[in-house]
Amino acid sequence: MIRDLRRRYFQRLATLLISAPLIGFFFGHPWTALMLALAAVLAVQLYQLNRLIGWLGNGKKAEPPDASGLWGMVFDHLYREQKLQRKEVRHLRNVISRVQSSTEALRDGVIMLDRQGALQWWNQSTRELLRLQKQDEGQLLVNLLREPAFLKFYNEQNERESIRLENPAFPGRSIDISMTIYGKGERLLLIRDTTRMKQLEQMRQDFVANASHELKTPLTVLKGYLESILDCSEDLPAPLQRALTTMNSQTKRMDNLVSDLLVLTRLDAEVQQSVRQQVAMQPLLSSILEDARELSIERGHEISLTLSSEMDLQGDPGELRSAISNLVFNAIHYSPDNSRIELSWFDSPEGGFVTVRDNGIGIDPRHIPRLTERFYRVDPGRSSEKGGTGLGLAIVKHILQHHQARLEIASVPGKGSVFTCCFPVERLLPSASHRSNQSA
Ligand code: ADP
Repeated sequence: MIRDLRRRYFQRLATLLISAPLIGFFFGHPWTALMLALAAVLAVQLYQLNRLIGWLGNGKKAEPPDASGLWGMVFDHLYREQKLQRKEVRHLRNVISRVQSSTEALRDGVIMLDRQGALQWWNQSTRELLRLQKQDEGQLLVNLLREPAFLKFYNEQNERESIRLENPAFPGRSIDISMTIYGKGERLLLIRDTTRMKQLEQMRQDFVANASHELKTPLTVLKGYLESILDCSEDLPAPLQRALTTMNSQTKRMDNLVSDLLVLTRLDAEVQQSVRQQVAMQPLLSSILEDARELSIERGHEISLTLSSEMDLQGDPGELRSAISNLVFNAIHYSPDNSRIELSWFDSPEGGFVTVRDNGIGIDPRHIPRLTERFYRVDPGRSSEKGGTGLGLAIVKHILQHHQARLEIASVPGKGSVFTCCFPVERLLPSASHRSNQSA
């Protein structure tokens, strides 16, 4: 605790400045005495100021000069602040070194970039993963990782998703990179070696693809024979007929399942959609409408199509047909007979939209986030009854991803659902018929 000596100092100063002229008066020179006293006070202040500057310039570690009174207080205060600051700096250095050593110990790579995107710091795992060396410090990361997909990810400042790339330092190995932007635009990149994960994923995909292929032929044979037997089954006893009918419907279900699995494995394998054709939406949707009416022929749904857009889509016609058909057929399966189903196509400055609206059983909101998971069904019994595989919406999601599009689902239980495929503006093309109308 530093003693407050201000009062005593000013008392002494006042005594000096009063007594000096009094003594001077005694010798006949009061003003000279006062001037001498003031000059002495000033000299002391300048002397102490000089010591203070000397101490401050002398490096922070030196002890402050000895002084009493007000100057002693100033030195003590400054010394105490200096000590506190040094302690704080030591503490921060410790924190930084602890963070650095724990980040060093991470199995994932960590890279810190400055605002310009230049490499500032990286941990041991990054050194091993990307073979970064001391001399790379200050280099722009985009000069080291030049893959266009990474540049796009980097420039879009996509913090929510990660990107998978081939490791430029070890061809054949793959890495996942995620990015966080902090401070004034600095970036922190997390890099993970995903080679093993990719291999396991590949093994899983190969297994499902092979198993589905192997199952497809025996199932086709079985289905063929069962259908032929059922065609001439009038002479068979009723229990046998029932058994054959059940076998036939279950075989069909299995066949649907295997077909959907094959579609999914094909979609899985094609990370980027390769076919980019102009898909005329009007004929595509009209033909889906016809198929839907055919499917619902005995159930009397009132199915309509509204075309409010003159645009076409750029993409894979087969995949788009499969995705939209899946949604329309689901609407039929999960809506009561004779209810209304509306299919529509429109565009806005945000993109192109295909919506399928039904007045069916609807979906409880808690199921909606999981609907596009493989084999997720709200009511498995009902889904199997109508021949569902639980893979339809997973296929829709995959196809939309191939088109950089997304699926939005809105539903009210007991009232109905709206499934919307939202396509980005870049996928829209003026339809050929519209263009020719305009030029005519
Ligand atoms: P499934 O083959 O079982 O129809 P999907 O992946 O197509 O599989 O759909 C997943 C689940 O989503 C379905 O089991 C069903 O519960 C629900 N669902 C899909 N479409 C609709 C709809 N239009 N109305 C109500 N529920 C739906």
